[in-house]
Amino acid sequence: MPHHYPLIAAISIGFVLALVFGALALRLRMSPLVGYLLAGVFVGPFTPGFVADARLAQELSEIGVILLMFGVGLHFSFKDLLSVKHIAIPGALVQIAVATLLGMGLAAAMGWPAGSGLVFGLALSVASTVVLLRALEQRNLVESRRGRIAVGWLIVEDLVMVLALVLLPALAGPLGGNAAAGHSETFWMDLLLTLGKVAAFVVLMIYGGTRFIPWMLERVAGSGSRELFTLAVLAIAMGVAFGSAALFGVSFALGAFFAGMVLNESEFSHKAAEDSLPMRDAFAVLFFVSVGMLFNPAILLSDPLPVLGVFLVIVAGKSLAAFVIVLAFRHPLSTALTISASLAQIGEFSFILAGLGLTLGLLPPQGHDLVLAGAILSILVNPLLFMAIDRLQPWLDRREGSKDATLHEAASEPVTLQGHVILVGYGRVGSRVGAGLIEAGVPLLVVEYSRDRVHELQRQGLHAVLGNAAGKEVLALTCVAAASCLLIAIPDAIEAGQIIGHARRKNTSLRIIARAHSDAEVDYLRQHGADLVIMGEREIARGMLAHMQQAESVA
Ligand code: AMP
Repeated sequence: MPHHYPLIAAISIGFVLALVFGALALRLRMSPLVGYLLAGVFVGPFTPGFVADARLAQELSEIGVILLMFGVGLHFSFKDLLSVKHIAIPGALVQIAVATLLGMGLAAAMGWPAGSGLVFGLALSVASTVVLLRALEQRNLVESRRGRIAVGWLIVEDLVMVLALVLLPALAGPLGGNAAAGHSETFWMDLLLTLGKVAAFVVLMIYGGTRFIPWMLERVAGSGSRELFTLAVLAIAMGVAFGSAALFGVSFALGAFFAGMVLNESEFSHKAAEDSLPMRDAFAVLFFVSVGMLFNPAILLSDPLPVLGVFLVIVAGKSLAAFVIVLAFRHPLSTALTISASLAQIGEFSFILAGLGLTLGLLPPQGHDLVLAGAILSILVNPLLFMAIDRLQPWLDRREGSKDATLHEAASEPVTLQGHVILVGYGRVGSRVGAGLIEAGVPLLVVEYSRDRVHELQRQGLHAVLGNAAGKEVLALTCVAAASCLLIAIPDAIEAGQIIGHARRKNTSLRIIARAHSDAEVDYLRQHGADLVIMGEREIARGMLAHMQQAESVA
């Protein structure tokens, strides 16, 4: 029966198993990634039982890539992108060259011809968007200087891979593969055409996209329909990604990134990010499931040494190259460590490249299997690398005087406050509360994840920390143990519950006042330890009633 509905089977079984294994992994104090990958191995063709459609699973996971890159674009302006070009372009190019050479060396040691080595090396040189962005997001690093460098680096890698995918067929003959696949004479034409299309895409997005797309989103927002707004957000992300891949030959990821970036200035970019969040997270999980599906565990036994070699090229060789390059550009040690950990893995592009190599007769099947094994192993250890950096963080902070080292870089200086009020969220609710407290002279510290708002507050000389308050690391910078009161003025009750949990553990006498939008949320937040929960809708009703009563008494 499930075979009649391969799409539903892939999505539902993927979600259910990922949830079960992810929760189990978390229980065992491991990264949920381990669980998602295992879930994939379970539904993959190499283990008994149900086998999901691997092609479908991969296609679904591309939706995760598209939405992730769209989300990153929403927090990125073209200026931000240009500001990291001095490091991202040479960094990515040198790192790709080093990793490719290492891969070629490994291939030569296995007795493969140089052409195979080149494809193999290229496949090992490119990091996975999903793995990188998830790691950065979990640490609130996407908007930090190092996060921006990593994203810029990723985009350069992405462009190089787009070129590689187009040029490989033309080069297949001279490199020793299927000569019939393409004509080497067309190499320069193909190169020029691809570069021309990428350039046309960028120009079109910058000059046309920046005008049309925000205008359209604002019109839809003006219609007042939430449903249409969400639909518009998804249509923009998916439509631009697909359209740019189909028309200009750029990757889905790059198309989606630009779609987000042209919306960056729009006042609706935050809401757009929020709207695409649940779908994005769910489909990013399917990415890991699909990687697990491709993995054949037997290779660990049949080819242990080549697997180890591939693993070392990805995790040690590539990251060492990135580390040295970042330091050579005089960036702090913590930046170098974060960038190299971010890049110490491979993923979707490597599979596409290895698959193409296989069809062009450039890569032996063993090479394809090794790339897959390298991907799953490097993705598995990636959270450990980040954990190691987290451990080193206090030392790095001391060493670097907390300049770029903290989660929110120069945007928030570490402060020492006592008896202060912590206000989380400075939007419609928080800014009104904040204004009142400032007027009353109450010592205040704001936590906000909107960079612009934090900068504005800091310009006014106020204490403001940039980051998601639900992260323990962010809360640790608010001197919560010495605070008198915590006001949570954000609309998301689940995040508010997490914030309350962390804060309560650090300060049992803290007075916590939270915001809710339903009776269930009120109960939920009180159970988590809020002293008082103000329900928005109840207050609006009260305000209306009071107004009516006053009007009647006047009449
Ligand atoms: P509003 O709903 O208009 O009161 O806006 C809520 C504000 O809280 C916005 O400015 C958001 O940027 C901010 N915000 C929402 N969630 C968080 C969070 N977890 N950490 C920090 N700021 C947040």
